[in-house]
Amino acid sequence: MSNKDWSIEDSIETYQIDRWGDGYFGVSPSGDLCVYPDKTQNGAVINVADVIKEAESEGLKFPAVFRFHDILHSQVKTLNETFARMIKAARYKGQYFGVYPTKVNQLREVIEEIVEAGSEYNYGLEAGSKAELMAALAYNTNKKSLTILNGYKDKEYMQLAFLGSSIGKNIVIVIEKLSEIHTVLDLADEYNIMPILGVRAKLTTKASGKWSESSGEHAKFGLSVTEMIELIDILKEAGKLEQLQLFHFHVGSQIPDIRTIKECITEGARIYTNLVHMGVNLKYFDVGGGVGINYDGLRSSSGSSTNYTLDDYVGDVVYIMRDICDDSSVPHPHIVSETGRAVAAHHSCVITKVFGEVKLNQHRKVSSKVLPSDHMLLKNIKYLFNDLSEKNYQDVYNDASLIKEEVISAFKLGVLNLEERSLAETLYWNICHRIIEITKDEAHVPNEIRELKSTLADKYLCNFSLFQSAPDSWAIGQILPIIPISRLNEAPNRECTLADITCDSDGKVNCFLGADGHSGTLPIHSLNSGEDYFIGFFLTGAYQDIMGDMHNLFGRLNEAHVFSDEDDPSDFYIEEFVHGNSAAQVLEIMQYNSTEMSTRIKKEVDQKIKQGSIKPRVGVKLIDFYEACLKSYTYLG
Ligand code: PLP
Repeated sequence: MSNKDWSIEDSIETYQIDRWGDGYFGVSPSGDLCVYPDKTQNGAVINVADVIKEAESEGLKFPAVFRFHDILHSQVKTLNETFARMIKAARYKGQYFGVYPTKVNQLREVIEEIVEAGSEYNYGLEAGSKAELMAALAYNTNKKSLTILNGYKDKEYMQLAFLGSSIGKNIVIVIEKLSEIHTVLDLADEYNIMPILGVRAKLTTKASGKWSESSGEHAKFGLSVTEMIELIDILKEAGKLEQLQLFHFHVGSQIPDIRTIKECITEGARIYTNLVHMGVNLKYFDVGGGVGINYDGLRSSSGSSTNYTLDDYVGDVVYIMRDICDDSSVPHPHIVSETGRAVAAHHSCVITKVFGEVKLNQHRKVSSKVLPSDHMLLKNIKYLFNDLSEKNYQDVYNDASLIKEEVISAFKLGVLNLEERSLAETLYWNICHRIIEITKDEAHVPNEIRELKSTLADKYLCNFSLFQSAPDSWAIGQILPIIPISRLNEAPNRECTLADITCDSDGKVNCFLGADGHSGTLPIHSLNSGEDYFIGFFLTGAYQDIMGDMHNLFGRLNEAHVFSDEDDPSDFYIEEFVHGNSAAQVLEIMQYNSTEMSTRIKKEVDQKIKQGSIKPRVGVKLIDFYEACLKSYTYLG
């Protein structure tokens, strides 16, 4: 399509912005990606290209994470208000006491924003480790909200919980393993205080999707029904049964199918009501996490998607619980959820510059005229090239692929020379290019031909590390929305895959959102010389942000924390820049000492100066340069 016929609506459609953006993202008339913190164009509109310009003018280097705090705020509000609305509509008697699971994104600014946004709803924090609990104790200042401890716990972890109870916080220790109760009882005697106890049940219902292994009878965490009965006996004997007040389960993150949720709530609710009938003083029903994100925009039950909305999820929790409690004559408990991904995913994105491209196996003009002197393999591939048509492309592709393999074997055996191999390979790639051309408008293309398009596509090189910024994309094939930040009023005239700057062939993205499913290439614009081209990886706020590893020692990215402000001419201000890792910092995590490293280099330079092969003035410059590199950003300049 030409630029004349292209509109920003076409870009919205091409990049599926409305499907995954949940109302937070759109495109300005000038073709820049925009953030609508209030999910409406009538409120603040933050132009991402303007944020880039301002950040650059303040000296921020890319790649960088942009955090839109208003989105985080809005998601906390939406979650709490959706529960309140459903509870009211269902005439449910309990309240909602949500907790944000810190593991989803532990960054201090994120926790602060969530605690502040959640204060009017008594929204608390969940911790899964000692360090997370230390953060939760220090930052969850709302004494009416819950602080829930999950994960395996040693004595010190439990002691921190008792410390929290001693200073008046609503601590809930969730028993994940039967033996943990003995430590709790010992500490209760020592501290003369007893936090609220919870029990995590192992449900038989198994989640589907990428995290299904965390669920079912063989899950790592939780107690079987027999172990729960044992726990009750232990607590009865210790005279502490009244403290067991929370019932919890968690069957996995990113649950794609609403049926799993319905089944879990039903099984959990039945166990809950039975425990109440057995005399347990339960008051809270904690449904864990699991609300998925529609990363690929498909609204399906595939791993990167969800076939339900937040309203559907909350409705199921509230109504199923109400009906089962009423049916069993059990009072409605307070509902707790540990929804993390759905709160944090939308608020941050990774912005990176495309700095070049690699053209692969391009179409090259060569003669396909069959010569009597040609080796049989060459003759055959030339016949295939000349015969290729819409009717036989699949057959031709199969035969050509086989011949290509035979050509390599013949070359290794010395039967074909380098020029003959080159000619055969070129003809093979030309066949592939023509097949892509032939099939480009076909609705149903065989999978291997679809993959061919991605294999042959040119690669845009991006200044970032996939392992740092989108580890799930590499590890479990998570699809993330990826979009150019500007020129969305121009028709994308290229189809490319993306490669990062790590020296690993795995550091690439070749699966993208497509109109009817996943696509092997990303529609993108040609690079204009002398003009920066930025792209964004979106929905990276949950897990991706904080899970990044030290692969190739790139480390954390620079960050800009963006807030909306309708009184500001650009509708936003950047509250702070958080600097990513310097080379010295990432090296020090790996046990290097940057001072010692400089000393070593200095020693070697000094030696060369003594030998006369380096001039003193040059030597000093070399050492200064090395020291400056240690202090500088790990990504490309
Ligand atoms: N609660 C527990 C115990 C978890 O293990 C997790 C994550 O796996 C969560 C809550 C958060 O789940 P999600 O981010 O899917 O809402």
